[in-house]
Amino acid sequence: MYDLHTHTIYSDGELLPAELIHRAAVLGYQTLGITDHADRSNTVTLMRTLEPMRETARLYGVRLLVGVELTHVPPTEIPLLARAAKEAGADIVIVHGETTVEPVAPGTNAAACACADVDVLAHPGLISHEDARMARDHQVALEITARGGHNRTNGHVVCVAREEECLLAVNSDTHAPSDLMGMAERMQVALGAGLTESESAFVLSGKNLPFLSKIA
Ligand SMILES: [Zn+2]
Ligand SMILES: [Zn+2]
Repeated sequence: MYDLHTHTIYSDGELLPAELIHRAAVLGYQTLGITDHADRSNTVTLMRTLEPMRETARLYGVRLLVGVELTHVPPTEIPLLARAAKEAGADIVIVHGETTVEPVAPGTNAAACACADVDVLAHPGLISHEDARMARDHQVALEITARGGHNRTNGHVVCVAREEECLLAVNSDTHAPSDLMGMAERMQVALGAGLTESESAFVLSGKNLPFLSKIA
């Protein structure tokens, strides 16, 4: 089990990284991405802050992916900040996509999908086919999210991803302890988004995500 998109007290989450990691371990997660909200002010600092947590995660049997969620940054800053995060040691870079429930800058999806340093486009809203094709070409996974509000376009994301052969990832976007999902809940989110049972099993295994196998 993986969850690539979670938040701690280092942005607007409720938990210290150690508690988030331990709660994920108890639920059976092998891979956890901590991806706090980031912009120019904190991208590099977040990487330094989280680096020591790799050892804590190892002690709990969890592979920690240190990352960021570039959030409400101007689209032109996305390539620059994604590169800065990777150079500072990020395993994963998520971009806060054009959800229908927040005024995310138009062009955010396109900038993320065109960027080879971006791994996941979170809650891409009513993503266009053109952007989805760029995501496929750059191996940017489109997110199926459990998060209320952001999840209203999951069905659209699945339809577009299927037609354009995009990578998909199911994430919780955890902010509070109760947001972390168990195995059955992850399956519900995948099926509820319109994936078939076999598609859901494949997407939930993470075996569809090349960048996961590249990370040690
Ligand atoms: Zn948040
Ligand atoms: Zn998030």
